[in-house]
Amino acid sequence: MSTIGDIRAQFPALQTKVYGRPLIYFDNAATAHKPLSVIEMEDRLYRGSYSNVHRAVHKLSADATNAYEEARDAVAAFIGAGSREETIFTSGATASLNLLAHSFVERYVGRGDKILLTEAEHHANIVPWQLACRRAGASLEVVPVGSDGCIDLRVLESHLDDASVKLLALPHISNVLGVVNPVKEIVALAHRRGIPVAVDGAQGIVHAEVNVRDLDCDFYAFSGHKIYAPTGTGVLYGKRRFLEEMPPFMGGGDMIDTVTFEKTSYAPLPLKFEAGTPNFVGAACLKPALETASALRRETEVQLSERQIVEYLIGELRKIDGLRIYGTPRDIAQKAPVISFTVDGAHPSDLAQILDKMGIAVRSGLMCAEPLVRKYSEVGMLRVSLAPYNTMDECVTFMESLHRAINMLRRCV
Ligand code: PMP
Repeated sequence: MSTIGDIRAQFPALQTKVYGRPLIYFDNAATAHKPLSVIEMEDRLYRGSYSNVHRAVHKLSADATNAYEEARDAVAAFIGAGSREETIFTSGATASLNLLAHSFVERYVGRGDKILLTEAEHHANIVPWQLACRRAGASLEVVPVGSDGCIDLRVLESHLDDASVKLLALPHISNVLGVVNPVKEIVALAHRRGIPVAVDGAQGIVHAEVNVRDLDCDFYAFSGHKIYAPTGTGVLYGKRRFLEEMPPFMGGGDMIDTVTFEKTSYAPLPLKFEAGTPNFVGAACLKPALETASALRRETEVQLSERQIVEYLIGELRKIDGLRIYGTPRDIAQKAPVISFTVDGAHPSDLAQILDKMGIAVRSGLMCAEPLVRKYSEVGMLRVSLAPYNTMDECVTFMESLHRAINMLRRCV
């Protein structure tokens, strides 16, 4: 069993000082810091086993290919995929969702059809579908979320009853609301009507146990950098029967079987969707990154403290006059440590700037989810998002600092 001190010591960036104060990093939903195991592996690969993958017969290329493909096994095991071929490496959740929207819509969606989304989407799960639907003559339909940020399953069902819906795409956990959607139940409702489900798992992969076979989702997209891997890494999981039928998204080297000027046949899965030189160093580092994530999940102390921290923060925030939290499921177990709020008389950007000067990194603004923020008639929100390396002491300091920042701004009005 490790202490929180041992855990924090694995993440060098957490030792940083900001304006002379120890950094309190509460912007983990944007990206998480990297453990030494990831930094060291990346360093080792660039210094030594570095050459392009899947191409040459020489040792360096074979070593790099092994590291890349071992990471694929690690990802497939982490998400419970039925086979490694269903695990496609991309440059991030955005790239995964663009690939999916392009190739799925081209194969399965026609004029007059619909793609169903929810109101709680990140732009990465809206715009690619908009682009693809425009090309296909299809349209988007949006399932509203309640004022608590939760999806009402009866409302969802009424949308699923529309025969022109060809796919439901929804977040596992909203990057604004922190609400954990009941994906397994939702997938069952959609499948009962023959509708496949794509999950934007950019936040879900970090805060929920993900087993794609148990969830029975048809696609699951996520980024590596939010779960301790380097930037420019990501994954699209897809059920084999869809991936086999979907056309490639990008063409180029590595994704082909044979090429003539008249016609190209494609490589088998997963390479069909991995055109060109991939970020093979970054992808290889998904292995130590996911080992870190698994180790942190086994630390019961860490898990317990995360629940206590969420309860503490919500309890303390609720005591502040004029403060509204967005994403308030009745069962607090359905709330990930992603807490967005607004405060009367204190603009979120001003609050974030003052907190920054106090050494606390939080996110403010529309958080790449403009339709959702606008639904609540807000111009922006302040978001606190935690990782297992954050501590209760940091939260206490955060609350004291937030009180001071709000008082400063309210005195100015
Ligand atoms: N979906 C959600 C829910 C997210 O939180 C994010 C990142 N904030 C994305 C998609 C896009 O991820 P990336 O920028 O890593 O591609």
